[in-house]
Amino acid sequence: MSTENTANNTTNEADEATIVENPFHTARLKPKRKGKKPPKLLAIVHQSGCTGCEVCIQGCPVDSIELVPGPNPNNPQFNQTVEIDLARCIGCQNCSQDCPWETIMMYEHDDAFTAWSNETLKSELYIEESNLEEIKKKIIG
Ligand code: SF4
Ligand code: SF4
Repeated sequence: MSTENTANNTTNEADEATIVENPFHTARLKPKRKGKKPPKLLAIVHQSGCTGCEVCIQGCPVDSIELVPGPNPNNPQFNQTVEIDLARCIGCQNCSQDCPWETIMMYEHDDAFTAWSNETLKSELYIEESNLEEIKKKIIG
């Protein structure tokens, strides 16, 4: 993943897939992070410990924490988790302090993208580039 302002183009070392921002996610309609310099720290959800309780979402001042639905489309809240829009996180640490399960960690900006790769089990904000067309078809038809 790039270390520029947005978290474009990461390479997942395990499978060499190129990960890009999902341009169709509703988070892309939210206001962009202000300022030219990226934050010193970024928050990463260690999804294996996330219960999907949504506590962290309430305290994020820039609304950059998104729900990741569970595996059953008929009951998406079951086994849901969350993920953070790294392009919008300002590194305030609220979520890291608020999480009752201590499953959000703060990383130096340049380390955050590797941590994201290691700790993310399911993402809708960042997807494999090869899936872009498929997702586009599903959304746009
Ligand atoms: S560190 Fe702050 S801005 Fe970033 S996701 Fe957590 S609460 Fe939101
Ligand atoms: S507060 Fe912690 S456990 Fe609850 S949804 Fe957020 S990251 Fe997951």
